[in-house]
Amino acid sequence: MKIPTLITTMLASFVVTAALGQEVVNLYSSRHYDTDERLYSEFEKQTGIQINRIEGKADEIIARMQAEGANSPADVLLTVDTSRLERAKNLDLLQSINSNVLENRIPDALQDRDNQWFGFSQRARILFYDRADVTDPPLTYASLADAKYNGKICIRSSTNVYSQTILAAIIEHLGEAAAKAWAASVVKNFARDPQGGDTDQLRGIVSGECDIAMSNTYYFARAIRKDVSGLSEQINKVGWIFPDQDGNGAHMNLSGGGVARNAPNRENAIRFLEYLVSDQAQQYFSAGNDEYPAVPGVALSPSVAQLGFFRADTVDLSLVAKNVPLAQRIYDEIGWE
Ligand code: FE
Repeated sequence: MKIPTLITTMLASFVVTAALGQEVVNLYSSRHYDTDERLYSEFEKQTGIQINRIEGKADEIIARMQAEGANSPADVLLTVDTSRLERAKNLDLLQSINSNVLENRIPDALQDRDNQWFGFSQRARILFYDRADVTDPPLTYASLADAKYNGKICIRSSTNVYSQTILAAIIEHLGEAAAKAWAASVVKNFARDPQGGDTDQLRGIVSGECDIAMSNTYYFARAIRKDVSGLSEQINKVGWIFPDQDGNGAHMNLSGGGVARNAPNRENAIRFLEYLVSDQAQQYFSAGNDEYPAVPGVALSPSVAQLGFFRADTVDLSLVAKNVPLAQRIYDEIGWE
């Protein structure tokens, strides 16, 4: 680089910093909901810290952080699913933080034991069924393996993070052998090869291709709240079951985040995460995607309240996350596509 260019560059960066004198937090997020705008503007108003957002698909954001390495400007990673947060942790993209606010507000089961990731909202992964055709819907995850549901079940592929985490939770509860036997029997009950997203599983009930489907609650709540093509117009066909109400409770996953390994604005990052567990932010954060707040006692959005009260599985997701590689291995071994 020629000297005049170097000077110009240095000067330019100095001028930007000095002129703005602006505190910032660089947020890498796979969230893209309208209500998040309020979430961010409220934080900026309260703290004077400006949020710079980089949004994209979760796996692309993680790949970007990997590629940027030690020079990454990322301060905070926000994404969904325990297995993905755990992957970010294992890739060394996150750091441990100490925050009494986060410790006190977020239940232990919804945060990493090393404090590298924290859950900010929850979603239940539950069972749906065709009200007209299914007179005895499955009341437990275990019963999906029952031969009476042969040819009836629509469910996602094993490459999907939700599929990985629910089997990881079953491993945590029942052990590897029982989890493997369960998965092998569920495969025999497939109505079709695993395909599509959660909404497509629900659409399968409406179209008549599936009698029973598994989906996260927010896809269903969203289709009640607003028009989702191929689903909303006939949503009354679809019944729902919160499974395992006499046992461990319905499987819960989370949307969450953590502070990036090389966060240039670490203190601001922690302040942002602490802001996310305030009552008001919890409401915005969960309502934006028809989810359940992570902080106990925060009001539910009307769209999820209508699904009713249920017992949630309180298994420690930090332990569940560790079973994800084994879950993937089981899926591969038993031929769950
Ligand atoms: Fe989702």
